[in-house]
Amino acid sequence: MSQEHSGERDGQAPGSVDARSSRPAAIDVDGLELTYGDGTEAVQGVDMTVPEGEFFGFLGPNGAGKTTTIKVFATLLSPTAGSVTVNGFDVTADPRKIRESIGYMAQETNIDPELTASENIRFACEAYGVPRGTRADRVDELLDLVDLVDVASKRAEEFSGGMKKRLDAATALVHQPPLVFLDEPTTGLDPKARNRLWEYFQRINEEGTTIFLTTQYLEEADQLCDRLAVILGGEIVADGSPADLKRQVGGEVLDVDLEDGDDARQRAASIAEGFDAFSDATVNVTDEGISVTAETARQHGTDLLVALRDAGLTVTGFNIRAPTLDDVFLAITGEELAERAPDQGVEQ
Ligand code: ATP
Repeated sequence: MSQEHSGERDGQAPGSVDARSSRPAAIDVDGLELTYGDGTEAVQGVDMTVPEGEFFGFLGPNGAGKTTTIKVFATLLSPTAGSVTVNGFDVTADPRKIRESIGYMAQETNIDPELTASENIRFACEAYGVPRGTRADRVDELLDLVDLVDVASKRAEEFSGGMKKRLDAATALVHQPPLVFLDEPTTGLDPKARNRLWEYFQRINEEGTTIFLTTQYLEEADQLCDRLAVILGGEIVADGSPADLKRQVGGEVLDVDLEDGDDARQRAASIAEGFDAFSDATVNVTDEGISVTAETARQHGTDLLVALRDAGLTVTGFNIRAPTLDDVFLAITGEELAERAPDQGVEQ
């Protein structure tokens, strides 16, 4: 963080301080709206505050408005209405200062295929004004971090999708910005590469970097994020820590696997919905059968299994467990978050 930068932030108005943490806000949003030229109302009245140092997760189904929101924060789109402050600077009045004080890893990789891995990172160092004397060390450090030391002198056009993603992460972080936007940074990466990036994100967060993450992987959000917000149709519909959100689901989840296809799953769901002992239950049809979330799932789970069997349905397995973020997402949005498969066979 530059001196100028921290100085400006020290002078922030009290209203931009997150009340819960008393830390200054890295991002402060009031009534943000963004309507595209074709009339699409992508973001409609978003309010949020992300305090400095937080690892914040922004979740939502495809088309919910996540990338649009991030692009406003990164000053690539101007708000239609509302006020947005990033690192203490207004997105409309001070876009240049914001760009200097953030890192942005977009969904599409932003590297030059004709340059080598080292050259791409060195180029980003120049673009972001990393002091000349420290550039070589920074290039080596980042190559090591994203596991590209062995291919440092190869052109990026020869890289797999996962390698390009890792190189892109390195270029977004060269200037050690106090706030980093990561738009699905690990999509398509295999578990090893994903873990390696997680470790780095956690490390820079522990050292004080604020992180604003969108992800397709709810497990990733659960492991990394202090707090989450869920956006649906351009509006924030839930927010809290992963534990808070899981508690809000209420009770436990009974997963029942069934033989016999869709018809059997629908019948089982109707039986579970009408089951007296589960008056507070949420029932969802899953790929394998049904899942029932209820305060009394543990006490009355076996009664439901008997009722299903008496109705002629074949139960092939069952499990009672605590809610996960997938259950939270399902309860809030009514749909599972589709995960994009990793690039099979392209990782190294
Ligand atoms: P994804 O996970 O698929 O990236 P998202 O939550 O990031 O989705 P956005 O990309 O912000 O969603 O899109 C929000 C809405 O705005 C969608 O209806 C999308 O079709 C629309 N949209 C996005 N970009 C444009 C554009 N340039 N012009 C018009 N509409 C757009």
